[in-house]
Amino acid sequence: MEEVGTGLLDRLDAMQRVAASAPGGPLLIVAGPGTGKTRTLTHRIAYLCAELNVFPEHCLAITFTRRAAEELRHRLDGLLGPVAEDITVGTFHSLGLTILRENAAAAGLPEEFRIADDADRAAARTEAGDDPTAYTALLRKQGLVDLDELLTLPVALLSEDRALVERYRDRWRWIFVDEYQDVDAVQYDLLRLLSPPDGNLCAIGDPDQAIYSFRGADVGYFLRFSQDFTDARLVRLNRNYRSSAPILAAAVQAIAPSSLVRGRRLDPARLDPEAPLVGRYPAASVADEADFVVRTIDDLVGGLSHRSLDSGRIDGRSTALSFGDIAVLYRTDAQAAPIVDALARANIPVQKRSHDRLRDRPGVAAIARELRHAGGLEGGLAARVRLAGQVVAERFATPTLDGGGAVRPEDVRVAVDLLTPLARRCGDDLELFLSQLATGAEVDALDPRAEAVTLLTLHAAKGLEFPVVFLVGVEDGLLPLRWPGSTPDEDAVAEERRLFFVGLTRAQDRLYVSHAARRTRQGAERECTPSPFLDAIDAGLFERFGEAEPRRPRDRQLRLL
Ligand code: ATP
Ligand code: MG
Repeated sequence: MEEVGTGLLDRLDAMQRVAASAPGGPLLIVAGPGTGKTRTLTHRIAYLCAELNVFPEHCLAITFTRRAAEELRHRLDGLLGPVAEDITVGTFHSLGLTILRENAAAAGLPEEFRIADDADRAAARTEAGDDPTAYTALLRKQGLVDLDELLTLPVALLSEDRALVERYRDRWRWIFVDEYQDVDAVQYDLLRLLSPPDGNLCAIGDPDQAIYSFRGADVGYFLRFSQDFTDARLVRLNRNYRSSAPILAAAVQAIAPSSLVRGRRLDPARLDPEAPLVGRYPAASVADEADFVVRTIDDLVGGLSHRSLDSGRIDGRSTALSFGDIAVLYRTDAQAAPIVDALARANIPVQKRSHDRLRDRPGVAAIARELRHAGGLEGGLAARVRLAGQVVAERFATPTLDGGGAVRPEDVRVAVDLLTPLARRCGDDLELFLSQLATGAEVDALDPRAEAVTLLTLHAAKGLEFPVVFLVGVEDGLLPLRWPGSTPDEDAVAEERRLFFVGLTRAQDRLYVSHAARRTRQGAERECTPSPFLDAIDAGLFERFGEAEPRRPRDRQLRLL
């Protein structure tokens, strides 16, 4: 546990301190990338609890992904110690689930209701045909709710029951929402019910990183915060601690044409005069682009003959960079394959991260059902997941028995591997495990300590930072993304530009952008031009890499031994 007390705010800069120690009432923190939003948010909660005698159980901290919620929980534990356990930390969906569990009867649900999985939904859809009410009735008859209903049902319940609203307002007197720019209509309704207009609601976010409108998020809620909540206090954080000055300058220029933040400022806290410019590589082809990534990584990390295998150290000294410091970002998942192949050929370890939900993977639903229904499984949760996997796989080895859906044994094996980290994190709490699964726990192929290059989409990169970032496929048609032959509207292009901004601002020390002159899309090879987004950036901020002599990556066999 870190030291609490006056020292708590010492680790913040002046504006972060203003935000963290602001009095109660509505508070909006508008903060650009790398300005320390999570740091400020967690310190505010810790400060309120440790210094102002706010009870942790009166605090509710909401984020959008389970990963972000875990990160918040982890940081709060670090700042406050065991009392942090009393703070409610979760996603909007887990919050909805809590409210429904506590009010199942009032919501017309059985005590033991559960969230419909894919098989349940498919069955209900087949039986109900086109009739959406019949569909819901079928789910209800089996004590099931749909994922969407984790939010719509609590909103309906609270809208009709003033006393219930007051009870929750009394319980969660302090509410904190991270990434507020991503709220959608129903999440917003829920927040307005839980927080009175003059309540202690602290919303934090960056409108210029709003990248989820395709999922119904509406940055408009962020922009009109001060109309919705009385006498809202506004704090801006402008100091970016993450990126070198050239990277930050490029990012600020890139977002300028469609910034949603009036008078946006992002001042670099890092002013190293030696900081490298943004690398730009015009590749002849996708293969050439992948080769550039491999070559550059090879140069940055250096030959392995000097490296000990597991620590990224030379003779006990820390080397400048290791594979875990590097990320390759792209707009669409389809772009990953050539990069993965090229890295694999060079024996560079990779880990891919996606936004896929565990519950959507084949085999996962069957295992979850087995866990729920078979009482006889023994041991810790991870062991029970393994056993349930065996039971499911065996059932498929006996084709007279009903398997409950088409799952192959290898799917089951993969599913067990994917579920194990979640099972470990949930300790022995089966209910927690199942509810996290149901509310969208992501496939977690990412180990933050892994000595591997991370590959991820721009959407999945949100909130993260890496010393070295490659942003590949910065081409018209991919960024902004557009189907060949179609014209996206202005709003869609603006959102793509924000996505570009998110990508650029993940980089701490080195950033490389590349574009290929030819690329296969929709089955046809096409000529590509660089993204128009690059035009907003001064040429002087780029260091252009020519089509250098291809060099063979250094031998990495050592690593495999
Ligand atoms: P994003 O919008 O990308 O999510 P963010 O605003 O959440 O960014 P953080 O990830 O919290 O930013 O912080 C960015 C980096 O800056 C982190 O490495 C963090 O430790 C560091 N940082 C933040 N505030 C300070 C500070 N006052 N002093 C030193 N480092 C800081
Ligand atoms: Mg953040």
